[in-house]
Amino acid sequence: MLWDNVVGHSAVCLSLKNSVEQDRVHHAYLFTGPSGVGKFIVARTLAASMLCPEGGCGECNVCRRVMQEKHPDVRVIRPAGKNIPVETVREVRMDAFMKPSEGARKVYIFKGAERMWEEGASTLLKVLEEPPGDVVFILVTANPAGVLPTIRSRCQEVSFANVPLEQLKTYIMERKGISEERADLVVRLTGGVLGRALDWCDEQWRLARRDNVIKAARALKRAELNDVLQMASELYREVRAPVEELSATYQQRKRDLEDGSLDAGVVRRLSKDLDEALSRERVKEETRGVEEIMTTLSWWYRDILVMKEGGDPGLLVNRDLTGEIEEEAEVIPTRRLLDSIDLLAGGILAAERNVPVQLNLESTLLGLQEALYA
Ligand SMILES: [Zn+2]
Repeated sequence: MLWDNVVGHSAVCLSLKNSVEQDRVHHAYLFTGPSGVGKFIVARTLAASMLCPEGGCGECNVCRRVMQEKHPDVRVIRPAGKNIPVETVREVRMDAFMKPSEGARKVYIFKGAERMWEEGASTLLKVLEEPPGDVVFILVTANPAGVLPTIRSRCQEVSFANVPLEQLKTYIMERKGISEERADLVVRLTGGVLGRALDWCDEQWRLARRDNVIKAARALKRAELNDVLQMASELYREVRAPVEELSATYQQRKRDLEDGSLDAGVVRRLSKDLDEALSRERVKEETRGVEEIMTTLSWWYRDILVMKEGGDPGLLVNRDLTGEIEEEAEVIPTRRLLDSIDLLAGGILAAERNVPVQLNLESTLLGLQEALYA
């Protein structure tokens, strides 16, 4: 069963599962909770459990296509750039009044639902006021305060809490077959966010990148200007690599649509959705790459600080590098560590504001060099 694959959230899942079994599904849900906690996975699982004849077996053609976002009756709507465009909501509104292609229901999942501005929100509100009987809307948001109160009041609100760290650790050990030590490291490095922790298990390069980033940080002490610029461009390459990979994955997904199982109109629509998703994902992955590098550095200096102040080694995030942390703690003064952490917070902010990646990396590394060793 797909429900069994969801980690944590057992009460939420049980109640949703029961409502499907007892045919008491609401026509609109608002899933709220921190990002990366698993809201979207539960949304897709709910969709699959409504359409699958077995209530979400996870193995049939229906379940598979829902989970791969290839089912014509389950549509995922994501923000394009800063918001969900009003045209998209209008199109959904029209589409909602058409019969499902295959099953008894249609499901629309809105990711980042708070990013629907006035016009879009009021268009959606009109559908929520008089919803077609066979349609279910699932609005997913990490920021429910940004959703219009009139919309919220028409949705059944389901809130998701962070999964406890120990549970997360056990889950990824079992699911990914990794050692407790490694699971512990991954959970710490990703701040206990499930989606990211799983990515770190699948994508070995993320851990390798952490090693490279820390190596670069440790080399700053003796680096000339040219060396620092060189380091920045190497880190930039590291940020770009997964973005290129992402493009390849989307091209493959587009080719998969052409397997003849869907009619031409649906293929065109899904293919357009994929193109738009790719351009958003590229920007997101690049920003995320820079943020991860800056966060890695922040944890690194924070670990040195903890060691320096005689803290419990159990508090270290980079526990596997305790020896290196001890060495740095001997030589870098507390004040300078604090300044470096501040500076990195500025770098993360700059990434969110779309300062060009290479420029941001260069100025951050040069800034760190000055803060730590000048
Ligand atoms: Zn199924």
